[in-house]
Amino acid sequence: MIVVILITVGMTAVFANLAARAEINRLQGREAAAHDQRLTKLLSDSYLYNGSWLGSQAILKNASALYGEHLVLTDLQNQVVADSNDSVIGQYLSATGTSRQKASVPGVEGPVGTLWFSPGVPAGASTRSVVVAESSGPSLSLLLILSGLLAVGIAMILTFFVSHRILKPLETLARVSRQAARRDFTVRANVQSRDEVGELARTFNTMLAELSRTEELRRNLVGDVAHELRTPLTNIRGYVEGISDGLMQPDAETLASIRGEIQLLTRLIEDLQDLALVESGQMQLRLQSCDLGDLIRDACLAVNPQAQAKSIALEVDEACRLPIQADAQRVSQVLCNLLVNAIAHTPTGGRIQIWARQAEGRVQVSVKDDGPGIAVEDQPYVFERFFRVDKSRSRATGGVGLGLTITRRLIEAHQGEIEVISQAGEGAEFRFTLPLEPVGQPA
Ligand code: ADP
Repeated sequence: MIVVILITVGMTAVFANLAARAEINRLQGREAAAHDQRLTKLLSDSYLYNGSWLGSQAILKNASALYGEHLVLTDLQNQVVADSNDSVIGQYLSATGTSRQKASVPGVEGPVGTLWFSPGVPAGASTRSVVVAESSGPSLSLLLILSGLLAVGIAMILTFFVSHRILKPLETLARVSRQAARRDFTVRANVQSRDEVGELARTFNTMLAELSRTEELRRNLVGDVAHELRTPLTNIRGYVEGISDGLMQPDAETLASIRGEIQLLTRLIEDLQDLALVESGQMQLRLQSCDLGDLIRDACLAVNPQAQAKSIALEVDEACRLPIQADAQRVSQVLCNLLVNAIAHTPTGGRIQIWARQAEGRVQVSVKDDGPGIAVEDQPYVFERFFRVDKSRSRATGGVGLGLTITRRLIEAHQGEIEVISQAGEGAEFRFTLPLEPVGQPA
């Protein structure tokens, strides 16, 4: 910045100097012409008054002292009649001789003489202006240099403050990122400015908040998984120790209990695998054209034994036959998850309604049961990992609280959304959307 300022000020100084000199020359030229005219008028008046060149010598000397220039007056025969230096009086000046300028002295009937300014100096050269310009030049240049130095000084101070203002937030960001690199995501960059650096700091803080949330989720997940693994394993160990101590018999009932705990562990591991897959974004959806009605029918068939065991009626709306673009296996998994949950929460002899319809360019699917429903305060959490409204009851049904989390992730992977509509005591309805089969493609 300082180099740029120096170049700018330097060029301004050079151009200002040239412009000032040109203006001074022009003014001096005009002033000199006016003086010359006045001097020839004075000589002419003196000649007419005296009838001779008497007195012209004194006029030339005074004028020369005033202008700082050698002045010579010649008559019509080019003989010098007056000389401000007293050096060439009586001599003849060549008519073609050089001079900065010469002017004729007017008489009554035409010119009576010629006034020579600085004879011997080539025409066009300005002796007077050079003298004046030299005397005013250094002071003008000095002024420009001083003002340039002042400008550089001010620019340096401003540059210091401006760069300090720009660099300080960057230093803060660097410090915060170093702390974040040491896995401390609690720090935030405190930058208030509204410029690009401020915007960067805000984005950086958002990223830190997201990293902090992810880190917390990771820690919670490890804790939750350990907890969920410990309970069935503790139970299995209790059964095995009871049998080996002779306190329990390895009868069918005990073995069924052990098998139940092992099934719980197996399901937990399967759910975790699914969750890891959908959350890492590595799950490849095999999108294909399929009929939603077929998928709903297949899911109902798969859960039918459980429904029949509780005499629950599965009522499927006839209008379900809609073409969709989806991964059939994953949509079946979603439907099964919702149906299994619905069956688990529906009392014996109850009913579950399933319908689908086309809305706003998408397909909306609903699975509604007439069980106890989900309290409004619990609804925001049902899609969270390991959330169970009633822990002991869910354990009895084999759920670990991952089913709805996986369901939501699968729906989101299809660019869809899922919501729960429920009021305690009035059943629960899960609604989700899926993309419709694009027009023109076969179903
Ligand atoms: P789980 O595998 O334990 O069933 P989910 O993630 O599928 O876990 O469900 C989370 C919790 O949401 C369940 O423990 C249950 O309390 C509640 N829930 C899910 N579906 C229903 C439903 N149809 N009716 C009432 N509560 C439900």
